[in-house]
Amino acid sequence: MNKHYDVIVIGSGGGTKLVTPVADMGKKVAIIEKGPLGGTCLNRGCIPSKMLIHTAQLASLIRDAKRFEINIKGSFDVDFKHLVKRVCSTIDQESESITPVYAENPNIDYYPHKGRFVDKMTLEVGGERLTADKIFIAVGARAAIPKIPGLDGTPYMTYTEALRNLKRPKKLIVLGGGFIATELGYFYSAIGVETEFLVRSILLRPEDDDIREAFQEAFSKQVKLRLKCDFQEVKYENETFTVSYKDGEGKLRKAKGDALIVATGIKPWTDTLDLGKTDVQLSDKGFVKVDDHLKTTQKNIWALGDCVGNYLFRHSVNFEGEYLFRTLFESPSDEPIVYKGVPHAVFSHPEIAGVGKTERELKEAKVPYIVGKNTYAASARGMALLPESGFVKLLFEKHSLKLLGAHIIGEEASNMVHMLILAIQMDATLDDLLKMIYIHPALPEVVRNAARAAEKVLL
Ligand SMILES: Cc1cc2nc3c(=O)[nH]c(=O)nc-3n(C[C@H](O)[C@H](O)[C@H](O)COP(=O)(O)OP(=O)(O)OC[C@H]3O[C@@H](n4cnc5c(N)ncnc54)[C@H](O)[C@@H]3O)c2cc1C
Repeated sequence: MNKHYDVIVIGSGGGTKLVTPVADMGKKVAIIEKGPLGGTCLNRGCIPSKMLIHTAQLASLIRDAKRFEINIKGSFDVDFKHLVKRVCSTIDQESESITPVYAENPNIDYYPHKGRFVDKMTLEVGGERLTADKIFIAVGARAAIPKIPGLDGTPYMTYTEALRNLKRPKKLIVLGGGFIATELGYFYSAIGVETEFLVRSILLRPEDDDIREAFQEAFSKQVKLRLKCDFQEVKYENETFTVSYKDGEGKLRKAKGDALIVATGIKPWTDTLDLGKTDVQLSDKGFVKVDDHLKTTQKNIWALGDCVGNYLFRHSVNFEGEYLFRTLFESPSDEPIVYKGVPHAVFSHPEIAGVGKTERELKEAKVPYIVGKNTYAASARGMALLPESGFVKLLFEKHSLKLLGAHIIGEEASNMVHMLILAIQMDATLDDLLKMIYIHPALPEVVRNAARAAEKVLL
């Protein structure tokens, strides 16, 4: 017999925004999760990577201490195994702590299984059949593995394994140049592992061009960087990976290492759902098609997060989950979802953060704009940091002088960007950024100086 719910949520990452809050309104909710509770962010994404990267940043600082007149006597080492074990045990405990929360809530049933559709509104889960008035698909994504001859069957790592790997490599090869690759590669290189990047095109392609280029220049001092690689073959013999690739000039080259991370993109988990039994349509790449209310092409089914692919962040799926909760349950309304300024950060070295449009996007859309740019080194606090690189770049609409985009590379970029997220959210203009009082000498003065530089363009 079918069990009927008010709501079924498939996937316990951002999908959880529709579990407890909805159950607390007195509705019966089923949460279906085939893996550990908490999804990618908690178990194999944002949280473990940032915990590891914190140690990497400290290691970088110690290595750099001499520049700040600190003499470190002798060498230092990172207790790699202990670090990874600590991080894993913290996130595992966090994940396990969710089960009792669900068990104690009489309105929540947790199904620790894979779910798949057997007809339009019925799911089969661990031998049971569940139906609901509303179904939310929040199944996320996994690492996409490129088709490179020989790669299959070798003990390569994706982010899932790389974040739990207890064996410190001597020489690491990273395939990929996105934020996952550059964060993981930074972690390993900062703790002293020789790291070589093989990138199909360029690093961090979606970033503003100035940011991308500055990052590439700084990053290439930390790792070996090979761009425009055409991968030919992977071999694993005598505990050594050999990756053959053609370089930009078509010359055959080889990279060798005792560990290989493959971080060349992601692929949605939608292929596990048997969506052919429903009217839910997918894009060519397998992402769920939704409208501006996150409704799928089938009535009473919504989708959110990485499996939709509008944005691939935990904060964006949270935003989508909160939007669905508000407009469907808390105070029902027909308002569409509006992504005003979706920020992002790359927690590599140097750190990057941005919100709004890039200069490239403004050019493509033929939006008239002005640019204000300022380096960290040219601000009071920035000087104290002895930065080798780092700047803030602001993009304003030329006539209204509304802030359209903000891009930062340098220390604390992911924190600094928050004032600019608010500025975009509130339609702030150049004048607003110039008129506010900045604490002296704090890093946001770099933002103010970038705004002043934009003002000069107008004079
Ligand atoms: C290494 C790494 C670092 C990252 N760092 C950041 C960061 O710093 N900041 C940031 O914002 N984002 C970061 N991200 C991205 C972020 O983790 C994801 O965008 C976010 O977690 C996606 O959430 P989601 O709810 O869409 O999917 P997930 O969190 O992936 O949740 C989907 C869940 O659905 C389950 N599932 C799938 N299919 C089924 C099925 N058929 N039945 C039952 N369950 C199913 C999966 O097991 C999974 O637990 C990072 C990602 C990685 C890999």
